[in-house]
Amino acid sequence: MHTNDAVFLEDLCPKFRLRQWRKSIHRFTGQSCIYCGKPSESIDHVLPRSQGGLSTTENCVPACLSCNGDKSDENALYWYRRQKFYDPRRAMAIRAWLEGDLRLALRLLQWANPNFKVKNKNLEIDEQRYKAA
Ligand SMILES: [Zn+2]
Repeated sequence: MHTNDAVFLEDLCPKFRLRQWRKSIHRFTGQSCIYCGKPSESIDHVLPRSQGGLSTTENCVPACLSCNGDKSDENALYWYRRQKFYDPRRAMAIRAWLEGDLRLALRLLQWANPNFKVKNKNLEIDEQRYKAA
C-alpha cells in the first residue's frame, strides 16, 4: 500500500509551492514594495480576501509592512490614490499586475524608479550598489 506516500506528498507539496510562489512574487519587483518602493516584507492582496480576493499572482503584490498594514481591508487602488507617495505610473503598474501583465507592470515600475533593476540574481547586491551611488 502506498497510501502513506500519497498523504505525505499532498502535505508537503502545497507548502513548498506556496513558499516558492511567495519568493517569486518578491523577486518580480526586486524585493520592493509595489506601492512605495521600500523593501517588500509581505504579500498584499490587492482585492482583500474579505472582499472575495483570491490568492493568485494577479491579486497578490509585494508590499512593505507599513503599506500592507495601513491599507488593511481596503481596495488597493482606492487606498493608493490617497497616499503621499502616490505615483500614477505605479498605479498603472498595479493595474497591469492585476490584469496579469507582469511584464508591463515591471516596465512601469522601472519607469517610476530609474534605479529599479529587475534581475533574478544578486538582488541584494544590486540594491546595495544603488544605495551607495
Ligand atoms: Zn510600501
